[in-house]
Amino acid sequence: MISTKLSGAQIRQTFIDFFIEHGHTFVPSASLVPGGDQTLLFTNAGMVQFKDVFLGIDKRSYNRATDSQKCMRVAGKHNDLDDVGRDNIHHTFFEMLGNWSFGDYYKKEAITWAWQLLTDVWKLPKENLWSTVFRDELGDIPQDDEAAEAWKLMPGFKSEHVLYFGRKDNFWEMAETGPCGPCSEIHLDRGIKYCDKQNIPGHICQVNGDCLRFLELWNLVFIQYNRLSLTQLEPLPAKHVDTGMGFERIVSVLQNVDSNYRTDLLWPLILRIQSLTNHSDEQREAFFTPYRVIADHARAAAFLIADGVVPGNLGRNYITRMIIRRAYRFGSKIGLNEPFLAKVSEIVIQNYGDFYQELKNNRRSILNSITHEEEQFQRTLDRATTHLEAMLEEISTSGQKILPGIQAADLYTTYGMPFEITRDIARERGLDVDEVGFNLAMNEHRIASGAGKAWGEQGSEGIEVYRQLVEVLQKQGKLSGNGVAYDPYSRLEVSGQVLGLFHKSVPIQTAVPGDDIEVILPETCFYIESGGQVSDTGVIRSVDGSWSIEIQEMRKPAAGLIVHAGKVVKGEPKVGDRATASVDAQRRRDIMRNHTATHLLHAELRRVLGEHARQAGSLVAPDRLRFDFNHPGAVSPEELNQIEAGVNRDILGDFPLKITNKSYQQAISEGATALFGEKYGEMVRTITIGGDKPFSYELCGGTHVNETGDIGICIITSEGSVAAGVRRIEAVTGRKAYELIKNRFDLLAHASNLLGSTPELLPEKVTSLLDELSSSQKQIATLQESQISIEFSQKLQQIKLVNDVNVLSVKLNEADAETLRQMADRFRQQYPSKGVVVLASVRDGRPAIVASITEDLISQGLNAIELVKFVAVPLGGSGGGKPTLAQAGGKDASKLDIALDRVETWVRERLPG
Ligand SMILES: [Zn+2]
Ligand SMILES: [Zn+2]
Repeated sequence: MISTKLSGAQIRQTFIDFFIEHGHTFVPSASLVPGGDQTLLFTNAGMVQFKDVFLGIDKRSYNRATDSQKCMRVAGKHNDLDDVGRDNIHHTFFEMLGNWSFGDYYKKEAITWAWQLLTDVWKLPKENLWSTVFRDELGDIPQDDEAAEAWKLMPGFKSEHVLYFGRKDNFWEMAETGPCGPCSEIHLDRGIKYCDKQNIPGHICQVNGDCLRFLELWNLVFIQYNRLSLTQLEPLPAKHVDTGMGFERIVSVLQNVDSNYRTDLLWPLILRIQSLTNHSDEQREAFFTPYRVIADHARAAAFLIADGVVPGNLGRNYITRMIIRRAYRFGSKIGLNEPFLAKVSEIVIQNYGDFYQELKNNRRSILNSITHEEEQFQRTLDRATTHLEAMLEEISTSGQKILPGIQAADLYTTYGMPFEITRDIARERGLDVDEVGFNLAMNEHRIASGAGKAWGEQGSEGIEVYRQLVEVLQKQGKLSGNGVAYDPYSRLEVSGQVLGLFHKSVPIQTAVPGDDIEVILPETCFYIESGGQVSDTGVIRSVDGSWSIEIQEMRKPAAGLIVHAGKVVKGEPKVGDRATASVDAQRRRDIMRNHTATHLLHAELRRVLGEHARQAGSLVAPDRLRFDFNHPGAVSPEELNQIEAGVNRDILGDFPLKITNKSYQQAISEGATALFGEKYGEMVRTITIGGDKPFSYELCGGTHVNETGDIGICIITSEGSVAAGVRRIEAVTGRKAYELIKNRFDLLAHASNLLGSTPELLPEKVTSLLDELSSSQKQIATLQESQISIEFSQKLQQIKLVNDVNVLSVKLNEADAETLRQMADRFRQQYPSKGVVVLASVRDGRPAIVASITEDLISQGLNAIELVKFVAVPLGGSGGGKPTLAQAGGKDASKLDIALDRVETWVRERLPG
């Protein structure tokens, strides 16, 4: 039906170019990790990166935009995982094409351009296109005749192809309150042969009839209301357009195939899997479900890791782990029993890498992470499956249908078997798994193992009152259209009139000492926490010197508004007073040293450990810097030395920092490093270090030193693990590094003083002292031995003749067990027959006894083991050994004399004379 054969990449590009020609700015896809939005696991729609614009918290320099947004729908409200592989249209990862109007054009233009692109550029048959518009089944919201009329004016559009639908299909809302509005969808009739529900009774083959004949291609959302409550809507002053077109779907239509997997986006992946399995084409079609799952997951895994989401135990990292493990298991169903997924993801990088540079830039870490994850799972999959099958067997035989969640949680914590795979296997046997129970069990496990909750929520209360103030100030001309001017880069002090004061989010006119307040000035040079760098602190003073406020924090409560938060320390600040705001300069300079050092460290980590060692989080504070990065194992002491030496070489190189502003796209295509979880606008600030041969090039809004030499020195203070595959380095620079070095020197001087040496000779001195110590200890031991030996010779006098046997039972001071044995031997040398000896000592408060009996007495029924046990009874001890030589210990040393007295009794009883 379509004659043009455009590639997927060309289709994406024609969409973008079409809207650029119509005055739109191309905005690159935001990361799959939503920047600054903790409530969302993944970017799941084109809307996400523009949400703040619609909410009025953010402003852009353009009012028309076009994009192709990377999306993941695999968790939360939008979760398509269950359908992936079972049909031809669902994916975990997909792209969403869109065009956007922020208070600019509206319905007529949006509809006209959609029609032109579909019919003039892409040549879709006009007679097969349908549109839907909004009609409220409750009659509360006006029906969208404006859109219906616009459709009817399109050349070649059949006016009877406009259909009205209600709230479920044609009214869009961001949340329970906030921006919302009617939408208009464009559907394509592919012909009755595509209907997959012809045999289903009651199926009405029409738009929104839920069969594959009518495909929804494009949704145009017209944001014109602000929802205040369930029943209350108010018109928005500025109306917006937000459109979304599923990229895979339009490609399948234009390439005239019946499955997204048969487009040139995913088909090369299917063919790569086939080459790995050596399947015939018939076998491939017979196993198309595993093929689809693997292709989908290989693509998702590559894009996730490219955005810095490595496999792990929680949240996003868990999803990456689950996706890879699930693909691996589906691979095992078609005979792939070794790690293979990287070979499929490699095609993703080839296929998508030109448009999404991050795939190419992170090629190695993508492929390594995937293989590593498969290898880990390979070890436990069989055992986990056997275990699970036994559990399922038990469930079935007991007539139940649902595996308890706690058992599924057990499989994950013991074997690393993700819940989703457990459920796959259960469902293959007609059973299911209790997901709620699983989550409860995992939460308990997390709490028990000391890991906190994964995701928090952010509140938005109080924004309104700040936004109103900005509006008023702008009307009065006291604030520019962009709001409070922000320049933390060129000065450390600014002056201006106090435009507003807030106490607990309530506007006030004046404050007194001790009040915690927020201060608004027309401009500020205080840095606001972002990109890991902490906010500046400082002081705001009235120009007449009557009051001062210590500033501890910076906040951005609404678009265009920056507030200085702190405590009044003197006087009574009033709105309208003239004041000067000064940043704590020394603290700021410490921060700048640490920030620039962080860039050097990042570059050096990648140079020494490899490109995969990318930033996974950072903190730039005045007293230290902390840097988290992806790396599978520990960093060796040699590597750490090399990294630290490299950073200091770069510091001594005294390279000037080159700071430029350019478009995000240009910076990324030049190879600049963007940071994980950061949110970027269309213009970005870049920091280049290294002169003619730059070794560091990062997107960064932070404050930096002028030349690397300003850092002074950088000392790494620790290296360790923070999570699976994520390491953390802490370091100090400048003043703190000096302090650390100075302290170490003092310590060294103190230690060498104590030893009467110098720091240089300290190791030698310590070695010689250790030698001396050990030879002294030996001497002491020898002396003790000879002393005991003399003592023993004297004690030999105490031998008693008991029934013709020489019996000696004495205490030797301070002898250890070995010495006791030696002395016992000496006794037997002197009395080779008819001899019984028991020697005892007390060391560290505990009694020890050795007993020995000559051979000839053994034959008469005497036994040293029996003897030593008998003797040890009063000591509360017991013993063992051989019939000729045995030993015992005890607890109560005070009974030693009583114990030794028992020897004679024992001999007498056994050898009745
Ligand atoms: Zn149908
Ligand atoms: Zn930075």
